[in-house]
Amino acid sequence: MSKIFSVRNPRTGQYDYEFTEATPESIHADAAKLRASSGAWADMPIAARCLLLGQWAAALKAERQNIIDALIVDTGRRRESELEVDSAIANLLRWVERAPALLEEPATRDSVVKPMTLTAASVPLGLVAVISPWNFPFLLALIDCVPALAAGCAVMVKPSEVTPRFVEPLKRTVAAIPALAQVLQIVQGGPHTGVAMINAADAVCFTGSVATGRMIARHCAERLITCFLELGGKDAVVVLKDADILRAARAIAWGGLANAGQSCLSVERIFVEAPVYAEFVEALADECNNLKLAYPQLDDGVIGPLIAERQADTIRAQLDDAYAQGAKALAGGNVEILGGGLWCKPVVLIDVTPDMKIMTDETFGPVLPVMSCRDADHAIALANGIEFGLSGAVFGPREQALAVARRMECGAVSINDAALTAMVHDGEKQAFKHSGLGASRMGDSSIARFRRRRVLIENAALSHDPWWFPARPPS
Ligand code: NAD
Repeated sequence: MSKIFSVRNPRTGQYDYEFTEATPESIHADAAKLRASSGAWADMPIAARCLLLGQWAAALKAERQNIIDALIVDTGRRRESELEVDSAIANLLRWVERAPALLEEPATRDSVVKPMTLTAASVPLGLVAVISPWNFPFLLALIDCVPALAAGCAVMVKPSEVTPRFVEPLKRTVAAIPALAQVLQIVQGGPHTGVAMINAADAVCFTGSVATGRMIARHCAERLITCFLELGGKDAVVVLKDADILRAARAIAWGGLANAGQSCLSVERIFVEAPVYAEFVEALADECNNLKLAYPQLDDGVIGPLIAERQADTIRAQLDDAYAQGAKALAGGNVEILGGGLWCKPVVLIDVTPDMKIMTDETFGPVLPVMSCRDADHAIALANGIEFGLSGAVFGPREQALAVARRMECGAVSINDAALTAMVHDGEKQAFKHSGLGASRMGDSSIARFRRRRVLIENAALSHDPWWFPARPPS
């Protein structure tokens, strides 16, 4: 039987929206339809697929405000809703422009084994399941979808059940391009629907928590299908003693508090060289104390509500644990209930130790713990001392900052800025350690993830190969 999901509005705490979960049977049937149409899509010249994707971008622009309005209700914030929609449309247009050249296959070439020749003849992976989280519901639902479609795959995408209201206007944009609607299906549901999708797919793109990522990796391993995992983070920033401290404080405040800290790439740990520690924490606390909650009105401030109830529980538990062990807040305090919603003013935490949960586990909230370090080596050791390796940042004179960045165990490092991968999507990067698995989702090479390499090896000379069995003497 189908389950009805009730959806919570993060500003009011009211459950004021419902949707029906897709069942394993409906997923099975939808997958069969997508597969039936996928051959024609894959055989279409790339220019034709890009033309249709360009039309989709226009349809998205036409629905832009409706999608943003739905995201605002689901997430309680305005600026990030606008940013994620505009960024997703810009990404779509970037693929439309770049995909034709990127998918061009090189001409036939000689093999090192003479006289053989090699001709590349790659094929799309088939049906790709995209499963996404609630923190940037729109951007992350589309980010893998678009290169997969451009590469010639069919796609079934399931956005998070926590933030589903944008699905309605999004579906209208797909329905407006009938050829696209045959190879792109948006489904709704929770974990059960996700499991059914994996059972039906040829490859999986998953963005979400490490715990779910592990389950999905096991499931895909059982089915022997490819999976790309983009998981949690606990990004570290190193502030060197000759850094521009005000710049560092401002950039880190944005990098840790945008979207109320509910980003995989949020700054969650800050290591500062001892001589500038006091100056830095003062500047950071000053910056944070000036940032207002977007409450009671949407545009009253820049820090939105905590979107998911269970995440608010995690943030509260980590802060309680840190305070119980002696940590102190120079700004903010803890999660509070305002108007039925869950909110957290930016927290600057000092007197933390590396073994506190607030320093080892993903917080996914507006909390900035700061530690003083003896020197850069100490800061790097602490930054690298945990199991996450998504991204990080360094502030300091350029050469020193670059040297520190090269020693950080993560996939992207912002230099004299923070959380740049939120805005810059064309640099190839992989998640290190437990933060993910698989080739880069960012940059040009991301599209190659969705094609299976195939080579045609030809003996055009029709010569006898030296490794054949000896020829029989003529009888
Ligand atoms: P989550 O793992 O709880 O859920 C993510 C998605 O997986 C949802 O759509 C959910 O319905 C689905 N799902 C849950 N169990 C499943 C299963 N067994 N099989 C198939 N699908 C299943 O994550 P969340 O709470 O929605 O998102 C927050 C997490 O996402 C954080 O850890 C954050 O760091 C991470 N994240 C990572 C990135 C990145 O690019 N690395 C980006 C954004 C968020």
